[in-house]
Amino acid sequence: MDKNSNYKTGTIAVWGGENAPFWEQSTQVPVVHSVSFGYKDMDKWLKVGQGSDEGYIYSRNTNPTVKAFEDKICRLEGTEAATSFASGMAAISNTLFTLLSPGDRIVSIKDSYGGTNKLFVEFFPRFQINVTLCDTTDHEAIEKEVAAGCKVLYLETPTNPTMKVPDIERLTKAGHAAGAIVIVDNTFATPINQKPVEMGVDLIIHSATKFLGGHADALGGVVCGTKKLVKEIYHYREITGAALDPMAAYLLLRGMKTLHLRVRQQNESAMKVAQHLENHPAVTQVLYPGLKSHPQHEIAKKQMSDFGGMLSFMIKGDLETVNDFLPRLKLAHRAANLGAVETIAGPPAMTSHVECTPEERAAMGIPESLVRYSVGIEDVDDLIADLDQALAGI
Ligand SMILES: *Cc1c(COP(=O)(O)O)cnc(C)c1O
Repeated sequence: MDKNSNYKTGTIAVWGGENAPFWEQSTQVPVVHSVSFGYKDMDKWLKVGQGSDEGYIYSRNTNPTVKAFEDKICRLEGTEAATSFASGMAAISNTLFTLLSPGDRIVSIKDSYGGTNKLFVEFFPRFQINVTLCDTTDHEAIEKEVAAGCKVLYLETPTNPTMKVPDIERLTKAGHAAGAIVIVDNTFATPINQKPVEMGVDLIIHSATKFLGGHADALGGVVCGTKKLVKEIYHYREITGAALDPMAAYLLLRGMKTLHLRVRQQNESAMKVAQHLENHPAVTQVLYPGLKSHPQHEIAKKQMSDFGGMLSFMIKGDLETVNDFLPRLKLAHRAANLGAVETIAGPPAMTSHVECTPEERAAMGIPESLVRYSVGIEDVDDLIADLDQALAGI
């Protein structure tokens, strides 16, 4: 696909990064399992090794299948560059350890992904990296902390699992005014629903394991942004070795060709499920940014083109009620994953915040009666009937 073309998202999802002709005229990106790439021409080898010529040396650094994946997501996010990782957490930890040194300060939100939160509360203090976690939707408090000085402002929206929506544009302005690098985890929204780069964000991170891959059969992560920042992060990853496997890259690439179709369906179905559950007597609250009742609905409307396939709801009762309800669902995997073609449901204690203690979850304001529901691409009438029969059974 022509690098400078102005195609729309669906076209980029299908053709982006797929720079045929490939080996023996194959129409699909080949899975190049080769660890290394050989050269007869010593001059050329040196130039590729030094990065002045394009090419491949060793797959911990670069690999053609992995590059196609990076090119596709880079086009989808509309950034200059992208580099990939073995998982979403590898992307997040490598990015932050590239940018932060002892004595530096990072400002973030209380509701980040459980693994990200672990970096903040368990690992960074060991390296004398100062972490300030603010209430996710208290914009004044975040702005105040950022203005006091920080190297990185790290955001995630919508958040996992309570679906809070901080204002990306407003906080990015605050971050840049303080000279900080602004990072957004865009996993929940996907580039179909939210384009952080258009709001000035410097680095966009994905757990590609989720919506990008979409089939729950490959782990991966990616960071997209300016050439300069991505190059620094890539250099750190060359050495930590948290490289994406070519087979996983292929599975993610294949999944991404239908990203726009899947996400469009998931947006539509999640809205219908959310509206239905909001009127259900056994449900006390539904958290979905597309609902008018959502506290940050106006912010979501401003920064998202649609509201995504993730929602959470609270059942009348406690964790025991949830544990009675979940096995009654017939059309959901009960698993610690999201963003797949199949619907997936689970409580935070077993999914997003499995790394945290009950006390830590309570401190983050995550109720034990909460169910996280990742809407798949099944017929939505069947999903709603399934939820109804399971709720009726408890
Ligand atoms: C799953 C997830 C991650 C971590 O990704 P892995 O691929 O599981 O390492 C990070 N952020 C968000 C929002 C996630 O949902």
